[in-house]
Amino acid sequence: MRAETLLKKLLGLKHVVVEGFHAENDALVILVRPSWRRPRCSGCRRRGCSAYDHRESRLWRHLDFGGVRVLLQFGLRRVICPRCGIVVEGVPWADDVLSRFTRDFENQVTYMAQRCDKTSIQHMFGIAWRTVGRIIERVVNRKRPGDPLDGLQHIGVDELSYRKHSHYITLVTDHDERRIVWGKEGKNAETLAAFFAELGDERCRAIKAVTIDMSGAYIKAVREAVPNAQLIFDRFHVQALVSDAVDETRREEWQRLRGTGDGKLIKNIRWATLKNPWNLTQKEKERLSALPSQNARLYRAYLLKESFAAVMDRRQPNVAKRELESWLSWASRSRLAAFVRVAKTIRKHLDDIIAYIRWRLTNGLVEGLNNKARLLTRRAYGFHSADAVIAMIMLCCTGLDLQPVIKDFNL
Ligand SMILES: [Zn+2]
Repeated sequence: MRAETLLKKLLGLKHVVVEGFHAENDALVILVRPSWRRPRCSGCRRRGCSAYDHRESRLWRHLDFGGVRVLLQFGLRRVICPRCGIVVEGVPWADDVLSRFTRDFENQVTYMAQRCDKTSIQHMFGIAWRTVGRIIERVVNRKRPGDPLDGLQHIGVDELSYRKHSHYITLVTDHDERRIVWGKEGKNAETLAAFFAELGDERCRAIKAVTIDMSGAYIKAVREAVPNAQLIFDRFHVQALVSDAVDETRREEWQRLRGTGDGKLIKNIRWATLKNPWNLTQKEKERLSALPSQNARLYRAYLLKESFAAVMDRRQPNVAKRELESWLSWASRSRLAAFVRVAKTIRKHLDDIIAYIRWRLTNGLVEGLNNKARLLTRRAYGFHSADAVIAMIMLCCTGLDLQPVIKDFNL
């Protein structure tokens, strides 16, 4: 068998002719060309384009042979495509004209990136982590089935910090399919407006509900783009505001009673006042049961927090609304500054908070995916571009099914 024939079999690529080979800088360079006679367009893959004479020699990294680096070499022509104009010709071993890697190589890197840590991938393939980021972007764009923005009805919006020092991306989740469908750098009204712009008028009209935290920027964007959709404030964000009010009250009491025995008690009771009752330890239960006689103000704050949670557990919206209104007047008259303030905020958004009772949608999924995404972004440190971070999230949080590149060999 000729060496060229053997190399062609080892490459395992269709529509490729091997014309020669040589060694260069410890790598095996294989000279190849497409098996089709007239060049194709790299943009639309149209066949039979007419070519210029000019050729530009290029190298593509392919999968290693027995640990030896393999490069494919070919002189790319420019072609005139009736649809795309003057473009570089398309080649059968790579999908993207910008990539210096073959499709098989990119698929293998992405398969490993879905499963492996950064250092292993860099060592295994000998490429920079930034390059991995760009490869993931390309493969994710190729492999995503259909348009993930089709058929959206119930969505969640949340932010994620992806690097130290306030670099944020906004993520949109599909509540029905339980997956992240969109991401973009930033966390202001314009960021989310870009999502709705991409969705377009028709698909915007199909959106029935949007869960968000209480961020004013997101509220604005949702109200403008999908005025008929129900805005739902994430119940856990709202409850977190109430918990913060308990903590603020506790700090005030501690300041007031500093140096006294009661002050020490208040310091120690922090976690007991913030936890859910069913998570309390025996010790914390004892501390709490002593609270009513020891500090009436902090006890009142604690009761307010627990009764707010109870209201959010209600199943009937009208019952919940009635109870929330009486909770609000209790909180406003509580003489606890933090609760007077939180009551104002809640009153302002009452309907969007009560909406949770009817729709039972929270950002829990977003937060869960977010935690996963947060772990991923730690791996993605060094990508330095939000697009690559988003691609990494898409790669690992959208149920993308990838296979390792394995081929049959027949002599
Ligand atoms: Zn074309």
